[in-house]
Amino acid sequence: MPIIETLGPEVRSPLPVRQSRRAPSRFPILPMPKLEWNTEVERDTAHLYERVKNVIPSVEWPFFAPYVREINRLKKERNAVILAHNYQTPEIYNCVADVVGDSLQLAREAAKAKADVIVQCGVHFMAETSKILNPDKVVLIPDLKAGCSLAESITGEDVRLLRERFPGVPVVTYVNTSAEVKAESDICCTSANAVQVVESLGADKVIFLPDQYLASYVARNSKVKIIAWKGSCEVHERFTGEELRRVRESDPSVQIIAHPECPPDVIEEADYTGSTSGMIDFVRQRQPKRVVMVTECSMADNVSAELPNVEFVRPCNLCPHMKRITLPKILDSLVYMQEEVWVDPTIAAKARRAVERMVNLKS
Ligand code: SF4
Repeated sequence: MPIIETLGPEVRSPLPVRQSRRAPSRFPILPMPKLEWNTEVERDTAHLYERVKNVIPSVEWPFFAPYVREINRLKKERNAVILAHNYQTPEIYNCVADVVGDSLQLAREAAKAKADVIVQCGVHFMAETSKILNPDKVVLIPDLKAGCSLAESITGEDVRLLRERFPGVPVVTYVNTSAEVKAESDICCTSANAVQVVESLGADKVIFLPDQYLASYVARNSKVKIIAWKGSCEVHERFTGEELRRVRESDPSVQIIAHPECPPDVIEEADYTGSTSGMIDFVRQRQPKRVVMVTECSMADNVSAELPNVEFVRPCNLCPHMKRITLPKILDSLVYMQEEVWVDPTIAAKARRAVERMVNLKS
């Protein structure tokens, strides 16, 4: 079923300012620890270097190790948990994170944690999702400017205008959106369950926001008519089917696995299409000799650290927003308790309803 209409930011309102505030006074600022490379630091972090030695050269470890040691110490002092998205760099993903995964996995795992503080190593909409599902915890993001082209392509006001234009048509929103957009939606979805969520509504027509390529993937795999939005991920839209055909011509045995935020000609070339977690599971289970992970570059590095026998072939693209998160900024977050992410409680309650409706769907 083709997409029946794609709308875009011609109706767009100004972007809302990201909300943050100072963390509560029960969390005083702590002294900044000394950061030096010495035999004690080397000994204390040796087991962590083992995890990343395939992807981080030994000459670089003396820079990372003092941060890794102090961040892990401060986590205990603050009773904090660090959530790291699959696109975070290997020293964050493997050496300081308590929970790794895609955005929804992170938020759901955080809800189970007995921590007072969540440090979100990812982008702003992910920190908001963590706050929505963990309203009583302090949620910090190490860089408030870590945004997302997809989340920023649409506002809550845009969704209200779409509802006026298509009265009675249900709205399905990808989790890569702001809390305000989730609050205006009937239900959320992930890249892994988008088709199932759309079909669960029993409607013949659905407004699917905001990723036009994920919308097109859903439209190709469902009989439901889709009204889409012109949003896209600046990382995944840069891949082309042509570059993948060239890789396959040079090695017909290579496995190509792609994220559904990629354009349709890329998906056509893929042996498997799925969410970041689905892609990781695919490589873990099949352990192909050579693989192209058509997504953000750090994900291949993280899987490569775990599976050194699998060769990861380029292309991949870097997400500049994910790369704003670094070890020095994570340390600052824990020392100064910054930047605390805050979501208006009324918006959070409405957004939570849309997320929980998805979570409660029977698979
Ligand atoms: S990879 Fe794309 S969807 Fe993910 S945070 Fe970056 S811009 Fe957003």
